[in-house]
Amino acid sequence: MTATANGETHKFEAETARLLDLMIHSLYTNKEIFLRELISNASDALDKLHFEALTNEDILGDDKELQILVESDTDERTISVSDNGIGMSREDVAANIGTIAKSGTRELLEKLRESGEADQPADFIGQFGVGFYSAFMVADRVVLETRRAGEDTATRWESAGDGEYTLLDSDKESRGTKVTLHLKPTDTEGGVDDYTLPFRIAQIVRAHSDFVAYPIKQEQTRQEVERDKDGNAVEGGKEETITELVTLNSMRPIWTRPQAEISEEDYAEFYRHVSHDWQPPSETYHLKAEGRLEYTTLLYIPSHAPPDLFYPNQQYGLQLYVRRVLILEQYEELLPRHLRFVRGIVDSADLPLNISRQRLQEDRHIKQIRQWITGRLVDNFQQMQQDRPEEYASFWSHFGAVLKEGVADPSAKEGLLPLLMFPSSHDAEKSTSLADYVSRMKEGQEEIYYITGQAREIVENAPQTEQLKAAGYEVLYFVDSIDEFMAQFLDKFQEKVLRNASRGTIEVGGEEDRKKSEEDLKKESENYEPLLKSLTTELEPYVKEVRFTSRLTDSPACLVGEEFDISPQLAKMLAQAGSDVPDQKRTLELNPKHAMIKKLQSLQGEDTFGDLAFLLYGGALLSDGGEVPDPARFGRLMTELMLK
Ligand code: ADP
Ligand code: MG
Repeated sequence: MTATANGETHKFEAETARLLDLMIHSLYTNKEIFLRELISNASDALDKLHFEALTNEDILGDDKELQILVESDTDERTISVSDNGIGMSREDVAANIGTIAKSGTRELLEKLRESGEADQPADFIGQFGVGFYSAFMVADRVVLETRRAGEDTATRWESAGDGEYTLLDSDKESRGTKVTLHLKPTDTEGGVDDYTLPFRIAQIVRAHSDFVAYPIKQEQTRQEVERDKDGNAVEGGKEETITELVTLNSMRPIWTRPQAEISEEDYAEFYRHVSHDWQPPSETYHLKAEGRLEYTTLLYIPSHAPPDLFYPNQQYGLQLYVRRVLILEQYEELLPRHLRFVRGIVDSADLPLNISRQRLQEDRHIKQIRQWITGRLVDNFQQMQQDRPEEYASFWSHFGAVLKEGVADPSAKEGLLPLLMFPSSHDAEKSTSLADYVSRMKEGQEEIYYITGQAREIVENAPQTEQLKAAGYEVLYFVDSIDEFMAQFLDKFQEKVLRNASRGTIEVGGEEDRKKSEEDLKKESENYEPLLKSLTTELEPYVKEVRFTSRLTDSPACLVGEEFDISPQLAKMLAQAGSDVPDQKRTLELNPKHAMIKKLQSLQGEDTFGDLAFLLYGGALLSDGGEVPDPARFGRLMTELMLK
């Protein structure tokens, strides 16, 4: 930083400098979007002032009409966007302009680095947008003057995008921000369109910013000739130049227009405006409720999950309007938490305009609106699942884990169950819904089976599912970190009990088969009683019991829990989070038909019996993705075994 009389020169942080460099040399053809970005910032600044004025009316002073002004000078080749919004203090400017706080921008740079397309970033700019910096696509010098509402100093920020910017005191007298672009020459190679022409500006505003809720004004000049009383020009009469401020945008909220008139691009433009997400939405729902309560909603599903989706205190919500007036910027009461990825607006005709957040909380309208929105969203998701399975799969990959949170909510559960998708033994690639699972259930199969674990690869060959798979039963893989938590609330689907394949006992086949298998097991257990006892004693520090099972067909052993136990993975997670987790030992189950049993039987009483028991237990643990309690011993025994 170098200090001058009343100013300082700063270096941009490295990432910003890189971004500016990209902007300046951008080959992106749709450069006119710079104006949309500046207007969008002005509109945001006006919103902020508007909200501050709700509790502090003095902040408006005499300057009460909130508006945006676009001025241009064709000879000077400048264009400016001014607002009388909230403005910025010097610290605000340094913090907001000149650093990249936005995760989306970081993502953009990351992608650029990965793709090696740094020299051709055209598409990326379209995809991510870069807000304020897009000015440098068309300008070689940008000046921003601003005064924070209620403060008596103003700041001037200036940069040629060459790695540095200067901060100076400014003599700007009015509240708000003015951004002036010194445009690149038009007649040089790679030059730009003439954005100083008033009709061109009007055109761009109408195309991209029509719905902005504040007037976007432009000074327009026209020649007026003297006319007689019939309206005909008087020959040789006086000519007058009339200059007036004209509002360029209709300010008509997009959701109040008939749907047939709204193009996909209009919807996408408004989405960008409310979400600050530059990638188009994947779904748009424009819904009206008519009846005792009247309201309109315009809801969007983003095409990707935002990076903060799982932050513990992530802010979410919809914009709330009352008869087209924005009341709350982000109102969480309009959505349940498991739909927090939804963006958009609600416009109610029935709420009072001057309602406080406190009073809203208690208003029964809000609760009804939330219920209605939730129901409509779930319907739409089900529709997508049926009609457009591929799009649904993509939607599910981004937001499925959030929806699963809602299964814990009794009022949401019913609607969410059909939406759930799980990887399963039925298909190596595609996930399945519970309904599809049920439709494939084998004759005699009464329950829906799943197994939990950290990854498909770990649970796919889990010994606990051998018997099920041998009988041709499908097994769902609950491998999302939230799945085990969710499973606690998933008792039944279409009257079929959901059962964890590695808990309690499972029953396969018809009544007769089951009876026979039970009897066999009983006989075997009696025959080998002393062996099972000595194994239980040997492994006493690790397991509750050692017993025979019909669960296994190929493997010698596996570990199972009791019906209501939590898995070791979940226990570990809870313990790390500071919860008191009771020490739950599991049961080691053995396959009575495995050759290993005879071997163990013959080794009873020998020195190596304990080692073999430990190996058996360690193997079962490893196949579960668990850690062996004494890895050194396990390794040594493995080596010895290999040498034999
Ligand atoms: P975004 O609008 O997505 O936050 P931008 O790059 O467009 O990103 O703007 C960066 C920040 O600069 C804004 O978040 C805001 O804090 C500040 N800013 C930009 N323009 C204005 C303005 N006209 N008035 C007040 N603050 C502004
Ligand atoms: Mg912006």
